[in-house]
Amino acid sequence: MAKADLGEAEWEKARSDLAAALRAGWKFLASGGTAVDAVEAAVLVMEDSPQFNAGHGAALNTNGMHELDASIMRGSDLGAGAIALVRRIRNPIRAARALLEGDGPVMLGGAEADNFAAAAGLEMVEQSYFTTERRVRALASLKQRGVAGTLKAAGEAEKHGTVGAVALDSAGHLAAATSTGGYNNKPAGRIGDSPIIGAGTYARDGVCAVSGTGAGEFFIRHAVGHEIASRIAYLGESLEAAAGAVIHGDLAPYGIGAGIVAIDAAGSISAPYNTAGMFRGWVHGDGSISVASHDEIFSFSQ
Ligand code: ASP
Repeated sequence: MAKADLGEAEWEKARSDLAAALRAGWKFLASGGTAVDAVEAAVLVMEDSPQFNAGHGAALNTNGMHELDASIMRGSDLGAGAIALVRRIRNPIRAARALLEGDGPVMLGGAEADNFAAAAGLEMVEQSYFTTERRVRALASLKQRGVAGTLKAAGEAEKHGTVGAVALDSAGHLAAATSTGGYNNKPAGRIGDSPIIGAGTYARDGVCAVSGTGAGEFFIRHAVGHEIASRIAYLGESLEAAAGAVIHGDLAPYGIGAGIVAIDAAGSISAPYNTAGMFRGWVHGDGSISVASHDEIFSFSQ
């Protein structure tokens, strides 16, 4: 997002919610917990925050409905869980986790995914829980742009804001998780890359964990998460080089906004993006936290 897209108070609130997400993940990592627990916990905090396009504060589709997608992947055994087009699960990432832990489907969609979550005892909510004033305004503005023929000029803030987390735990295992409302004014029934394992979410021990944001159609076609892992595994590239090649190389011709957060098996992190800014944050070995949206890096304590 461009700096002008949000007021200073909103930037500050988003940064502090990001720090809270990092704290929630770190709590597990610091006490010997798993990378999967850490990424789920971090995404959960961002789903509950109205600042981001997931859970409370998710994007609205063209019918004014929320249809949410989420997934989580465990690098140790390539275990994965994903849900698409859910309308009633308060925290979609929890449902993805429940699928990951089960021995049935990797992916469920639509009303039956909601039913699965209810049967698993997860908290269910009305659609209105997800709706925020900001998304209602964004939908109205995008619809106006549609009529005026100025859709291309819409800012990233009007459209995007998917959340994701990646982690490496003390046992050397990697995990990734992603959750989203998709993009504002998306067609009803449209599924993005976030719940597609290998596209918006991917984790493989010994290689890397990746979570992406941007026009999902292109992330799916380029299998972005898997592509970055493949470049590392087969070409021997560094995480930085592989992630950069995909975000700044492969996706460049489409002129879409795109970014990822990623970590490799040695704990190196990379968060390339081709937009004016991208929310991102990381925890250092001593537990201190860094958060950024543009060039400036803000420090937070545990
Ligand atoms: N990747 C998401 C999707 O296509 C949208 C976004 O990240 O803004 O559903």
